[in-house]
Amino acid sequence: MLEKKLFLIFGNPVSHSKSPLMHNLSFQNLGVNSCYSKYKLEDENQLRDIFFNLDISGANITVPFKKKAFDICDYTDSYSKKFNSVNTIIKKYDKLFGYNTDALGFLESISHIPKNSKILILGAGGTAQSTSIILRENNYLVTILNRGRERLNIFKNNGFQTYTFEDFPSDGQYDLVVNMTSAGLKDNLLPAPIEILNQIIPKSKICIDILYGKNTPFLEISKKYGKKIQNGSNMLLFQGILAFQYFTEHKFKYDLIKKHMKRAFI
Ligand code: NDP
Repeated sequence: MLEKKLFLIFGNPVSHSKSPLMHNLSFQNLGVNSCYSKYKLEDENQLRDIFFNLDISGANITVPFKKKAFDICDYTDSYSKKFNSVNTIIKKYDKLFGYNTDALGFLESISHIPKNSKILILGAGGTAQSTSIILRENNYLVTILNRGRERLNIFKNNGFQTYTFEDFPSDGQYDLVVNMTSAGLKDNLLPAPIEILNQIIPKSKICIDILYGKNTPFLEISKKYGKKIQNGSNMLLFQGILAFQYFTEHKFKYDLIKKHMKRAFI
């Protein structure tokens, strides 16, 4: 029998992650001799060394290490190069290969939203960067609203309309409002001041929080306004299937992996 391969998810926090359940269910049911666990990373500068010291075959990288993951790879794919953000790493021939499956995962999770819809993304971190570009490439009209000014520069340089809480216009109207901040992950904070949310949510058609596994304050408010809501479970599932294909060298078809992986969400 082939040697058992080890895969990890690096993050901080990481205890909430569903990825081990998703990948282990798929490994078991597809007869792959591998296992997947969690690693709470304290110092991002150790990421590359840990990869080699623990002899792991691959990993997912979650908040807040996706930029660092991009930096430590020897080779990166075209998607991750567009956003300097890697969420999936494979170790092959003692080299690290980095990919980004978040953006495609999010795109698939909103396949029911018509093209040309106006989307307001709350947040300007790694996930917002990768998804904004892919959404624009797929003819969605994307605006970015972020707490701080600094992370908006990369969006501005890429031609996106950007705002901070201070200069956000009161007449803004968006079909879809998406929370892509990490507000709500370790706390119960809203991703933007309540005054702004009270202004944009009522005029929207659907609100999405890409967090999963908890009822976030952002989705609570959206529900109160009677909006359709969606959490991050589908995005997580879709990005996970794509990562699994990299982990198993594309031996399994997307729909077959989906059949097993989605049981983690029952
Ligand atoms: P980053 O650390 O790269 O970026 C965090 C962003 O959140 C920044 O724009 C930051 O703003 C903003 N932010 C943080 N705290 C607050 C707050 N209290 N109020 C307002 N804004 C805040 O994170 P990622 O982009 O990697 O991830 C964002 C979230 O998406 C995480 O919660 C992660 O778990 C989730 N996620 C879910 C996925 C899924 O499959 N469902 C996949 C990927 C991510 P500032 O610039 O001002 O600091």
